[in-house]
Amino acid sequence: MSDDADGDVPHQQARWFAGEQYEPLLSEKRTETVEVDSSLPDDLTRDELELPAPAEPELARHYTHLSQMNYGVESGPIPLGSCTMKYNPSFTEDIAAHPGNRVHPLRDDADKQGILRLCHELQDALATIGGMDAVTLQPPAGAAGEFTGIQVAKAYHAAEDDERSEVIVPESAHGTNFASAAMAGYDVVELPSNENGRVEVDALRAAVGSETALLMLTNPNTLGLFERDIGEIADIVHDAGGLLYYDGANLNSLLGKARPGDMGFDVMHFNLHKTFATPHGGGGPGQGPIGVRADLEPFLPTPQVRETDAGYETYAPAQSIGRVHEFLGNWLVLVKAYAYILRHGDEGLERVSETAVLNANYLASQIDYEVPYGPFHHEFVASADADAADVAKAMLDHGVHPPTTKWPEIVDEALMTEPTETESKARLDDLAAAFDAVAATDPEDLAETPTATAARRIDQAAAARTPRLSWHALDEE
Ligand SMILES: *Cc1c(COP(=O)(O)O)cnc(C)c1O
Repeated sequence: MSDDADGDVPHQQARWFAGEQYEPLLSEKRTETVEVDSSLPDDLTRDELELPAPAEPELARHYTHLSQMNYGVESGPIPLGSCTMKYNPSFTEDIAAHPGNRVHPLRDDADKQGILRLCHELQDALATIGGMDAVTLQPPAGAAGEFTGIQVAKAYHAAEDDERSEVIVPESAHGTNFASAAMAGYDVVELPSNENGRVEVDALRAAVGSETALLMLTNPNTLGLFERDIGEIADIVHDAGGLLYYDGANLNSLLGKARPGDMGFDVMHFNLHKTFATPHGGGGPGQGPIGVRADLEPFLPTPQVRETDAGYETYAPAQSIGRVHEFLGNWLVLVKAYAYILRHGDEGLERVSETAVLNANYLASQIDYEVPYGPFHHEFVASADADAADVAKAMLDHGVHPPTTKWPEIVDEALMTEPTETESKARLDDLAAAFDAVAATDPEDLAETPTATAARRIDQAAAARTPRLSWHALDEE
């Protein structure tokens, strides 16, 4: 029996509409009127409801088609530089789905010893990886980690009666560094890069002074370059009474090789959703724990987890800045990071970074675009000889996801590329072939792309600023 034999609305198949692929809403496929029989008062209920009623095959096809109109890391690589969009092994999802993780967060510490133990062991593992003395798991993202870390540094300076007004951020830094420092009430001092794409030490020396609260750095920086002068940089900042903040977004290149704490950093965040395998993008939950050196520990958010003779317990650090998230943070992200770290072990984590660096260097050696700065680590920034946004759109027509574009601004028409360790040589070769096919295309033709995707050029600013998150929004137009 066909759907339209008994449905109110004729059955609609997915189709191409005005050059773009279109998947009807479930309610456009088939609806059914359902009588409402409720014990609630009449003025609070309707007598009948019109509900989508596709048969099971149509329902399965609907969601499968929606997934096929999209591109995810299970379709192919997502080489978005800085984002570290690696493939996340599904065993961590199985572990996160374990019923033992479903403990009500308001239960007493005594009732959730396993959960507190996991938190405590993860705190320790991250402290070891980062070369830090103490870790809080609470902040829910890298940017939230930055904000928390800056607040901890501010509380530390305030406790010393040494209030300071400035945070120094290199021009190549992620936008969240500028935003977090400004939100915490600091004046942001932008530091220029030198001709090698690294921190200009003389400019830093000139910028640092008694008002410097923090220097925020990521290392390797957003060009994938290791800041070789980090020892001298740390001395300059520390000698002036300032602190060093490490943006951990690029930690995927350093695991088991080098530690921010050993480089002189005092505060850092970890992006568990980048380095330690939690899917991200599209608004999924992340987690941005921060690590600190011992004399900043009293200011960490509350609660912290510690081990006592009687078991694990939560406590408030002596001069805590307070709470930055409910309970322990996005708990299941912590479970996944813990499982990922344990499964890899020391050697496995070291291999993650070695492979990430090797993959970036292999891919860069295979593409026709110029890569102006090096030697780089886990990511590189190529320079397009056309509009980088057009290059990105054209790559979609070759069936791959494009790199991050137009950032950092030090490189003209930047293509910031991070293939990650989870791609095979064959997939890296696919990416290189897509880069090269686009490099060989007339720039005027690039402006017409993409033509082979479900949607062509969308208004990206409008999509970000006024998202339509429900089909009701379509009705209102
Ligand atoms: C992703 C990123 C951040 C911010 O992290 P979120 O988890 O997205 O908030 C900060 N700095 C750099 C260099 C990044 O790539």
